[in-house]
Amino acid sequence: MSKIIIIGAGASGVMASIILKRKGHDVLVFERNEKPMKKIYATGNGRCNFTNRNIEYKNYHGENKKFVMSAIKNFGYEEAIKFFNGIGIKELELENGKVYPMSLQASSVVKQMNLEAEKLGVKFYYNSYVKRIEFSKKNKVVLYDNVEFEADNIIVATGGRAMEKSGSDGNGYKLLENLGHSIVQTHPGIVQLRLENYDLKKISGTKIPGYIYLIDKNKKTYEQFSDILFTDYGVSGPGVLQISGEVIRGMLSGKEIIISLDLLSYIKEDELFKYLKINFKENGFKYLSEALVGIINDKLIKVIINYLKYEDIAVSNLSKENIFNISKALKDFRVEVTGYKSEKDGQVTCGGISTKEIDPKTMESKIQKNLYIIGEIMDIDGDCGGYNLHWAWASANACANSLN
Ligand SMILES: Cc1cc2nc3c(=O)[nH]c(=O)nc-3n(C[C@H](O)[C@H](O)[C@H](O)COP(=O)(O)OP(=O)(O)OC[C@H]3O[C@@H](n4cnc5c(N)ncnc54)[C@H](O)[C@@H]3O)c2cc1C
Repeated sequence: MSKIIIIGAGASGVMASIILKRKGHDVLVFERNEKPMKKIYATGNGRCNFTNRNIEYKNYHGENKKFVMSAIKNFGYEEAIKFFNGIGIKELELENGKVYPMSLQASSVVKQMNLEAEKLGVKFYYNSYVKRIEFSKKNKVVLYDNVEFEADNIIVATGGRAMEKSGSDGNGYKLLENLGHSIVQTHPGIVQLRLENYDLKKISGTKIPGYIYLIDKNKKTYEQFSDILFTDYGVSGPGVLQISGEVIRGMLSGKEIIISLDLLSYIKEDELFKYLKINFKENGFKYLSEALVGIINDKLIKVIINYLKYEDIAVSNLSKENIFNISKALKDFRVEVTGYKSEKDGQVTCGGISTKEIDPKTMESKIQKNLYIIGEIMDIDGDCGGYNLHWAWASANACANSLN
């Protein structure tokens, strides 16, 4: 049995500590914060979407997404459920295979994982920022105050750059760069989008249910349905976050990205057109801005009129083509994506330590023996829906099970 240091008491670090301690290793975890798993409280909107029924390698991205295959084969959905049931968390499956604790409280996951780690006797060192890792004569970590700890193996589980106030501020990349690792350029994932501005500032805070599509060669692709939240920079909401990975990958490859918003998802375009024609005939005296009240959220009316570059005139003056264009704009509001929010706003960091330098079966560094790398710090990011936490668990499991 060996002495193992884990840097970072986030999702992957705590998971690795439990599996290693169950196997009888001496496990020391160094965490810069005053408590473990700070980020987990914020996951899944405070409910912690900790896995997904449909875990597949297709849900992961990076220069080599097949890197995840071995780890998720050995620790897939079933294994995740077994582990969490075993520590007292009953699963609840909601939409799209997303799995949460039945309590719908992320704090339950933090509590049960930490009770398990403490019961097993994992040694946690809080307020302990690791500033250097050394493998010269001894394998050791050096803390911010120059106190040193030695071990046989060192696991880096310091996360990426998402939500830096939780402790994952990207310093882990430096720790590993100093040991010879290279970094695939990072960018945010599962993040809000910046849009070409159609008076959006004025409707910031407005939320509507709707479909969002990516437009490819003038065709709607990659549809998502959820609340769409307009903000002063663009759009947010679950569907936007879900689609953001695809959008950002497109933008980074130099494509112009257009999205389409269906602002009236509960009615078909031809029915809407028919209804508008009748309504505008019966209410011909009303201005367009008045006639649309009761059909769409009134905050959006001015935006639509400006989008179409129409005058706000009495609807009796509108041609059939004008009315057709109005129903089209409401069902297929196209807007260019001009950017996205920063790494600290994203839910995950895409890019990171190159997976070419990590053994996919053991998570051991191919550059430095006895060094292991797990979780989000490496060039793997998952889709929205429990895939990122699952990667933290699965990579921790692969690493911990390889250490005898
Ligand atoms: C708002 C939000 C919501 C999310 N919701 C979900 C969700 O519902 N489902 C899902 O699957 N994923 C979700 N994620 C993503 C998921 O939380 C992460 O992918 C996952 O936590 C990564 O685990 P990790 O162990 O690699 O890193 P982290 O959980 O980020 O842990 C890293 C730890 O290392 C510590 N650390 C860093 N540097 C040092 C150092 N030098 N010395 C000591 N300690 C250090 C940090 O303080 C931190 O505690 C969400 C993320 C965010 C930001």
